[in-house]
Amino acid sequence: MAGLLFGTSGTPHSAKTVSTMDGIKRIAELGLGVMEIEFVQGVRMGEAGARLVAETAASLGIKLTAHAPYFINLNAREPEKIRASQDRLLQTARIGSICGAESIVFHAAYYLSDPPDKAYDNTKKHLEEVIHQLKRENNRVWIRLEIMGKPSQFGTLEEVLNLSTELERVAPCIDFAHWHARSGAFNSYSEFASILQQVKERLGTTALDNMHIHVSGIAYGKKGEIKHLNLKESDFHYSELLKALKDYNANGLVICESPNLEEDALLLQETYNTC
Ligand SMILES: [Zn+2]
Repeated sequence: MAGLLFGTSGTPHSAKTVSTMDGIKRIAELGLGVMEIEFVQGVRMGEAGARLVAETAASLGIKLTAHAPYFINLNAREPEKIRASQDRLLQTARIGSICGAESIVFHAAYYLSDPPDKAYDNTKKHLEEVIHQLKRENNRVWIRLEIMGKPSQFGTLEEVLNLSTELERVAPCIDFAHWHARSGAFNSYSEFASILQQVKERLGTTALDNMHIHVSGIAYGKKGEIKHLNLKESDFHYSELLKALKDYNANGLVICESPNLEEDALLLQETYNTC
């Protein structure tokens, strides 16, 4: 893939209806390149619907990804909660891959009261079981571990890069807004570049060729992320991020998670094309 494609998390506001199909059509009309299907409240799409989605996206040249349900905790205390989390991830991967999604994104876990290394080991073990199952099913979708915005959530830059190094078919979803909110830093060209440098060093240039990125404005405090904001109402230096992505020859998909969705996705695309 050459360069970056931009799009929205879920159906754009200006689509005819909130359906995935109308979302994909609107993405094409707007001149954007990708849509992340939001299964965040549960995977409610069937196989037949997913096949239709795949056909529509392919005919319009739109790429798709999918976001798994929020109710996932691979570090849960109760075995039944782990199993339910794994099932939600598997369902997202199965329906997502019928949709033709290249990647599925998910929020892996909460630390609860565990030290980070214990949460890491639990998450790794339970994710590995999911990866093995998908391998048995010949499902080749990328499993994208998202960098999370609150210190209570598993998913620092380092944890995400480490797990991506250790597990096959696992790759990062670099949420630059989350990392900015969580760290209170990482909002300048040199800091964005340092993240890309780490991706390159830890995962190789192939990872820079296959990026999955989330961007939005963000409000944050002592406990990290408070809520997403539109870019121009936030302090996020998105032009510097886009310049760093261009200088590092990053290729892949940029999903805009601002409340105004397509407005900021178009702003990001335009800024990228002219920087
Ligand atoms: Zn997410």
